[in-house]
Amino acid sequence: MTAPRLAPAADAGWHRTEIAAVLQRLGARAGGLSDAEAVERRGRYGRNEVPVAGPAPWWLLLLRHFASPLTAILLVAAVITALQRHWIDSTAILVILSINAALGFVQERKAEADVRALQSLSAPSCRALRDGGERTIPGVDLVPGDIVLLESGERVPADLRLISINALEIDESMLTGESFASTKQLDPIALDAPVADRTNLAFSGTFVASGRGRGVVVATGSSTALGEISALVQTSAGTTPLQRILRRLEHVIGLVVLAALVFVVIAGVLLGNDLETMFRTAVGLAVATIPESLPIVLTVALSLGVSRMARRNAIVRTLPSVETLGSTSVIGSDKTGTLTQNRLTVERVWTSAGVLDLMESVAVAVADPAPADLSPSTALDPAHPLVRAVLRAGALTNEATVSAHDADEYFGDAVDAAMARAAVALAAVTAEERAAEPLAHEPYEPHRRYSQTLRVRPDGVRVLFVKGSPEAVLQASAALAGDSGEMPIDATVIHAANEELGRVGLRVIATGMRVLGPEERLEHPLPPPSGLTFLGMEGMDDPPREGVAEAIRECRAAGIRVMMITGDHPVTATAIAERLGLSTARPALTGAELAHLDDAMLAARLEGTGVAARVTPQDKLRIVTALQSRGEVVAVTGDGINDAPALRAAAIGVAMGRSGTDVAREAADIVLTDDDFTTIVGAVREGRVTFAAVRKTTYFLLSTGAAALIAVTLSVFAQTPLLFLPVQMLWLNVITNGTQDIALAFEPGEGDELRRPPRSPDEGVLSRTLWFRAGITGAWMALAVLLTFILDLRTGVSEEHARTMALTMFVMLSFFQVFSSRAEYTSLFALRLLANKPLLFTSFAALALHAGAMTWPVSAAVLGFVPLTVADWAICAVVGSTVLVIVEAEKAVRRWSRRRSPQLSDRPPVR
Ligand code: ADP
Ligand code: MG
Repeated sequence: MTAPRLAPAADAGWHRTEIAAVLQRLGARAGGLSDAEAVERRGRYGRNEVPVAGPAPWWLLLLRHFASPLTAILLVAAVITALQRHWIDSTAILVILSINAALGFVQERKAEADVRALQSLSAPSCRALRDGGERTIPGVDLVPGDIVLLESGERVPADLRLISINALEIDESMLTGESFASTKQLDPIALDAPVADRTNLAFSGTFVASGRGRGVVVATGSSTALGEISALVQTSAGTTPLQRILRRLEHVIGLVVLAALVFVVIAGVLLGNDLETMFRTAVGLAVATIPESLPIVLTVALSLGVSRMARRNAIVRTLPSVETLGSTSVIGSDKTGTLTQNRLTVERVWTSAGVLDLMESVAVAVADPAPADLSPSTALDPAHPLVRAVLRAGALTNEATVSAHDADEYFGDAVDAAMARAAVALAAVTAEERAAEPLAHEPYEPHRRYSQTLRVRPDGVRVLFVKGSPEAVLQASAALAGDSGEMPIDATVIHAANEELGRVGLRVIATGMRVLGPEERLEHPLPPPSGLTFLGMEGMDDPPREGVAEAIRECRAAGIRVMMITGDHPVTATAIAERLGLSTARPALTGAELAHLDDAMLAARLEGTGVAARVTPQDKLRIVTALQSRGEVVAVTGDGINDAPALRAAAIGVAMGRSGTDVAREAADIVLTDDDFTTIVGAVREGRVTFAAVRKTTYFLLSTGAAALIAVTLSVFAQTPLLFLPVQMLWLNVITNGTQDIALAFEPGEGDELRRPPRSPDEGVLSRTLWFRAGITGAWMALAVLLTFILDLRTGVSEEHARTMALTMFVMLSFFQVFSSRAEYTSLFALRLLANKPLLFTSFAALALHAGAMTWPVSAAVLGFVPLTVADWAICAVVGSTVLVIVEAEKAVRRWSRRRSPQLSDRPPVR
């Protein structure tokens, strides 16, 4: 059979066709296509993706690298030298600028490609039926005729004609602008219904707000309704805060350098030098002092940060988050799955008649809290009718599916899987009973905290099964199941039992049921349950993830507060928080309490609070904004569809790559591919390393630039012969700043990133300490260079020799300065020498180049060098190393004074 060519869903009339006819027209079956058919169709219809418009043409991107105030100054300098017919100078400047632009261009492309590649890693997958079985496949592999399964939180991967639904509601605001979710149905719709009214279709790119559904793919890629308006999905890459800070810094530097140049030229001429020489000096000075490669350094550092984070399982979706992560001061984390493993095992079953403790019969993990924590109650065995009833109900309103290969392996929600496994293992229910199609089913949605299923027994009697949080089930219950039939229900008994299970850290789910009378009408969609018989509760253990307790300790040392934000019961949450070492000094903040607090009171209540429990996603949003109103930089995790607003509001939204919904992932700044809390902490560390690398480079460029500026200015006033020829300053720029600064961006960090408080978000690139250090080292280097020049002249050597000597001194000073820039706080000698190989390579290459340039007659003539003796080199090396001594001494004094009186340091003490 050949499938027809498909027109876009919007006008192909799929909405007016009966399901059977749709399937037939598409050559599809309700059980899905075979793999072979899918391959064949992919060849015919192409991949399911909307081609995005390409980026701006490459030459435009390249030209953009010339458009900074710093390069502008240098371009003017090139023009001036050209007008003066100093061809070597002007060519050299242009070559430097071109190399710089080319480097920047290449780095930027690479960074963009990296980010894009990473984003495609977190590209949405979807669930489809292929070869008769459910399969998770990449969304781009869908073809017309595929059967797709939909669940709340998922993104619709293609245009679908729905073939079965369960309370399916889809948010189509991106397509229709309609803010209410569209309620879906299956019947054909009149001929000319507008898109918003085609309620039997699901459109690519829209989100399932709640419910479940199944649909057959009718259009993919550009043929979808979204593909036709694909301009909507183009995103623009804004600038990052660090880029803005640096741009401001560049403007300041540009102005300072310009003012200094004007000053030098005027002063020089007044002191009797000729205008032309002063012009050329100014041009050389501009090249030597202007840190034209700063933007490249930033790009390199950020993209290195992105790939390092990716290696640690954190996919960065927006570049700015790399740096924002570094200043994170509070992490609000989900409990289940992030702090804990989300690998649940039913350990206790509570009923009014007593408790079944499953851990007594099974080998118990050593770290597990002793059952002695429980107050004595009748021990039941698995065959007890009440226990069986609890387990049955839990397994019969349940979406976990069992693997075809391993009867003990369950797919789906961890709660559902645990409850199904326990019930089947204890023979409270059979696999066939679970597999039977229910009359109606309302799936679990986090905001409802329960699920319910209507089933028919073999004797024809209909039974409603409910499972959910004890509060939710209790609220819907009219009686409690007892040993000898139903009895009145006492809420305090249930609450007490719930807390007792929670106190040992168990996650508690209650079950209830109701037998329907023969006349009662109850059908799809099910109303909220009521009149239930409360059967009992299952307590499930969810062990903490490995390394989480340690990561929380690290956070404390790093001045980062960790807060557990969970939908679970406060007692359970607090028990687990204690196991993990979170602050439980103040009682858990509950959603109910939060509702009574205004924003200011909430902010105060959050101070020192480690646990927020029974909170809704809306509460989470309020917590995030309250914290941020106090100036905290908040990273918050989320996985559910309703978490998106909180993820967007937080400075860093963190989504779960495995368990999270597409909606959460798309609202997030970073996605954790392993859902692990420790990954967030690792990413924070990388963020701090990235920022530190940019800051170290800026420090290096500023200090050497200041050195050149001061040395030349002083030489003009000291009325020495010309300190450096313009071409020599160009040379200096090439071998010192040109590459070593980029190499500094590769700095792997000092290792103590997580032992310092977070950087204040309104701090500039350099701290006060670094400004100070740049000032003193700059002045010292200038002095050393100028004195070398003057003293060398005194010995009666040629001006050429003195210049070569002074320049070599500068090269040596920079050589040591770049190494001392590697560490901001710790001693350089505490770092691994080989940790930054690019830096080692470029630094020694610079020395070799410089030595070569003065030995090779041709370059020596062009650059005005004379060869130096070994003794000359030795002097330069020894004097050059003084800069290292100064910085090390300054760091030692600071470390010492910080140890004595921490509040005197320029950073706030760790909270
Ligand atoms: P967490 O923040 O720990 O992930 P959730 O928001 O997932 O908590 O769950 C909130 C509450 O909803 C749980 O404490 C439990 O009572 C109930 N619940 C969770 N999962 C299910 C499920 N699959 N079926 C029924 N109830 C559930
Ligand atoms: Mg959850």
